[in-house]
Amino acid sequence: MKITNGKYTLTGGVDVLSLTEKYGCPLYVYDAAIIAKQYNKMKEAFDVPDLKINYACKALNNISILKYIKSLGAGLDTVSIQEVLVGLKAGFEPQDIIYTPNCVSLEEIIEAKKLGVKINIDNLSILEEFGHLFPDYPVCVRINPHILAGGNTKISVGHIDSKFGISFHQVPLILRIAKANHMKIEGVHMHTGSDILDAEVFLQGAEILFDIADHFPELKYLDFGSGFKVPYKDDGIQTDINDLGKKISKRFKNYCKSKGRDLTLMFEPGKYLVSESGFFLVKTNVVKQTTSTVFVGVDSGLNHLIRPMFYDAYHKIVNISKTSGKERIYTVVGYICETDTFGVNRKMHEVQDGNVLAFYNAGAYCYTMASNYNSRYRPAEVLVIDGKDYLIRERETMEDIMRNQVELDIF
Ligand SMILES: *Cc1c(COP(=O)(O)O)cnc(C)c1O
Repeated sequence: MKITNGKYTLTGGVDVLSLTEKYGCPLYVYDAAIIAKQYNKMKEAFDVPDLKINYACKALNNISILKYIKSLGAGLDTVSIQEVLVGLKAGFEPQDIIYTPNCVSLEEIIEAKKLGVKINIDNLSILEEFGHLFPDYPVCVRINPHILAGGNTKISVGHIDSKFGISFHQVPLILRIAKANHMKIEGVHMHTGSDILDAEVFLQGAEILFDIADHFPELKYLDFGSGFKVPYKDDGIQTDINDLGKKISKRFKNYCKSKGRDLTLMFEPGKYLVSESGFFLVKTNVVKQTTSTVFVGVDSGLNHLIRPMFYDAYHKIVNISKTSGKERIYTVVGYICETDTFGVNRKMHEVQDGNVLAFYNAGAYCYTMASNYNSRYRPAEVLVIDGKDYLIRERETMEDIMRNQVELDIF
């Protein structure tokens, strides 16, 4: 978002405030050009003969977003059978979808196999059962490299006590199971968590995967997962994708050359591709001065954007109804009957009732974590592309709130 002629605009000059007049508030808006920019930055950063970027769609799963990301050339990373189904509906080829579930039933994995997608197994007993049933269906194995990484404990998933992956100490067991069942292991995968800053973490993990790869002659790809950090604050730090790209590409090509192998290098970014493309727009219901604080109460809450309460995530907040004038300090809160504070002591242009506030970084893990808590409707979603705005999800109605409820008439 930038200011042009006194207005906040998206790529192509689309006036953000006018979108709230057209579609109402609260509203999620995504700027497609930012998704494309992020995808291309990542693609250019890695100089290897065969790179595959699979978008982790749990970050933002609207079917039109998936179709857009597919048009950029990406594959899809999914964590549930429902995400697989949406991906197929969006037009991804089964072999361009990788299914990386955790603690799901064998039945669900069999369903994914029937749909023909790539399967990433993260549990020895499932590997054995799957191999017993379908020895000819090649699979990927998710390795836990025991690296402590990630922005906080909820999103750090590759450490030794984590529920994810098969410990790299258990590789001999993977080999034994694969051999006994005549299985083909076509991929080795790791995903250490979100918000990883340090290229060294990836490189450490990479070395572990290279060591493991040596044991699997039928390997086609190495999947280094994700965890690329994007800035949330104006001076926020981010993964230096070019530095990371250079280091990983060099090491990857060396490995392939020294072993005489042609492997695909895969990644599965979610946040990196979509976080910065999204803006969440809310209307101010009340400005409330208490003895200690000036609260801004908005027409949303943890039901629509839970990251600040769930992860202590920082989302920059701007009053887009004003681009100049006096600034004051506010604490921005929601309307839910629970403490749902979006931001404390935020400097904004003086807020009046009815002003529209924009939350930045609302592309990843925002709409997808929204709920109907307090029987509120989930917001509409709009995609801005080539200077035009498209409604890609309607605002919910009472029908959605009542859907699937069974009203007993026995009282
Ligand atoms: C969530 C997830 C990702 C995406 O993580 P980001 O931090 O959003 O990039 C990638 N791979 C797997 C297996 C995941 O569960």
